[in-house]
Amino acid sequence: MEIIHVSAECYPYAKAGGLADVVGTLPKYQQQLGHIAKVVIPMHRTKFLYENEWTVEHKGGFAMGNNHFDYTIIKEKTNKLNFDLYCVDIYGLLDRENIYSYDDDTERFCAFQIAVVDWLASWEHRPDVVHVHDHHAALVPFMMRHCFAYRHLASVPTVLTIHNGQYQGWMSWDKSSYIPGWDTWQWGKLDWDNMINPLACGVKCADRVTTVSPSYMEELTYNANGLEQLFVMEKAKCTGILNGIDTVVWDPATDTYILDNFSTKDIEAGKELNKKKLCKDFNLDIKMPLFIFIGRLVGEKAADLLPQAINDSLGTMKNKMNFLILGSGDPVVESQLEAIKSSFVGYYNSQIGYNEKLAHQMYAGADFILMPSRVEPCGLNQMYAMRYGTVPIVRSTGGLKDTVIDFGEPKGYGIRFNNATVWDITYSIHRAVELYDDKEKLAEIREQMMQIDNSWEVSAGKYINLYNSIR
Ligand code: ADP
Repeated sequence: MEIIHVSAECYPYAKAGGLADVVGTLPKYQQQLGHIAKVVIPMHRTKFLYENEWTVEHKGGFAMGNNHFDYTIIKEKTNKLNFDLYCVDIYGLLDRENIYSYDDDTERFCAFQIAVVDWLASWEHRPDVVHVHDHHAALVPFMMRHCFAYRHLASVPTVLTIHNGQYQGWMSWDKSSYIPGWDTWQWGKLDWDNMINPLACGVKCADRVTTVSPSYMEELTYNANGLEQLFVMEKAKCTGILNGIDTVVWDPATDTYILDNFSTKDIEAGKELNKKKLCKDFNLDIKMPLFIFIGRLVGEKAADLLPQAINDSLGTMKNKMNFLILGSGDPVVESQLEAIKSSFVGYYNSQIGYNEKLAHQMYAGADFILMPSRVEPCGLNQMYAMRYGTVPIVRSTGGLKDTVIDFGEPKGYGIRFNNATVWDITYSIHRAVELYDDKEKLAEIREQMMQIDNSWEVSAGKYINLYNSIR
């Protein structure tokens, strides 16, 4: 089967979060299952672009509103990622350093999607499935069905995966001319609440919709940033498939980013050496339990609760724990987290920014990872952490609920709490400190977590079954 993934991100080419990890891994596993998986993303100006060789695959052009754009499809030459990676280059529009957050993102992602569909329409054969990811690619199914120039793609099955339903790509109706010549009888497919809503449109038009965990699928029917009713109506074609992790990239036994490689055979020694380095680099005390947070400093991740939770915990149990934070996002949270440094020298540190290498070192060296998320469609951090023997402290939501069992439950290994509140976080930190003091139990939990199979094998097969059901 030939599967085309359309996405804004793909690790290691361009990554802002979990979307990149999934799109950089799932196709690899689909290839291993004997299918042809291809990925197409915008041609962001990242290191990966310049460090690799590319061939020109196709050139074309299209009108968008009053503008004409030429585009080029380039392909990575050496199959470095174990699947074919294609990029859409549109001069001045897509060839930028960042993936998102430009004022003209609406134009950029509309143009990206038109170029992808225009390119697919030029093929002599049809792919078996077009699998689009998040709102940046969610207009593709509509374009394939209802844009006059591309209607010969209408019979190609489409799947939309929602990695994050909070962002929907809203466009005002005065931008409807960005979508190339379409059947205006179908306006209702584009509309949600008097706006063009690409994510809602994808849910309406794709043959199947998936979310990245079963619990998140359920949650979307009552918490979907305005789309709850839509998910209730479309429930029959929606399913939750849990993300996996790339067990080659995320393997403490071979990870080249970490100081000391380790496996289940030498967990305690391996973690200690990695912790030692981390504590030295960030002026923390090796003897104390090390709590980390890695991620976007946004409301969804409940990052706004961290400064108070850390202040309260260190205020009451100062010489009992360390914290290290890595992330960027809300400037207010960033500055609050930076401000804690001076109050708790030797117990707290933070690095504002994005740092892939440090993230690996933190998963390896930490004792506990905090994930108090208000919304967590799947969450990869907890799975990476567990593979590196780090105990996840999570709020019971979305994928966190599907992947972490509290250590108080039979066969449990993590720490779970119910409410995104400072009190629930600090209470869970207290439980973690107690667990840290019970060395035998902690060692047992570490070993158990490292053996959990969160690899893609099972989920990759579920996607193939899903494709087969609509072919
Ligand atoms: P989301 O996609 O919502 O941000 P996920 O848990 O699905 O959250 O994926 C987050 C991914 O991004 C993980 O691979 C995590 O290690 C990585 N990540 C997030 N923030 C940073 C950061 N500041 N530095 C390095 N890696 C980060």
